[in-house]
Amino acid sequence: MILNKWNYKKHIYESYEIPNNWNCKLYSEDMNEIVNCPHCGKKLKYGDTYTSLEIHNNMGFGFGVCEKCYKKEWLRRMKGDDRNVNK
Ligand SMILES: [Zn+2]
Repeated sequence: MILNKWNYKKHIYESYEIPNNWNCKLYSEDMNEIVNCPHCGKKLKYGDTYTSLEIHNNMGFGFGVCEKCYKKEWLRRMKGDDRNVNK
């Protein structure tokens, strides 16, 4: 399965491939469904995921990621975005 991953340095989406046996979701009606974090593959309940800032589908919707990876996404976003650095 190929997803889109935002590159903060280049400001473009790059292809991001995940294993076919990972269950990565944009949305689930069942908060107890076990999904994989698309960054690290960790299994967690959909209800415990955060909406990714980086990994999106073609419509720009974010996949559910684990808390640890979500924090790393924030750090990358703060570091990579020049507009914030120059404020
Ligand atoms: Zn993760």
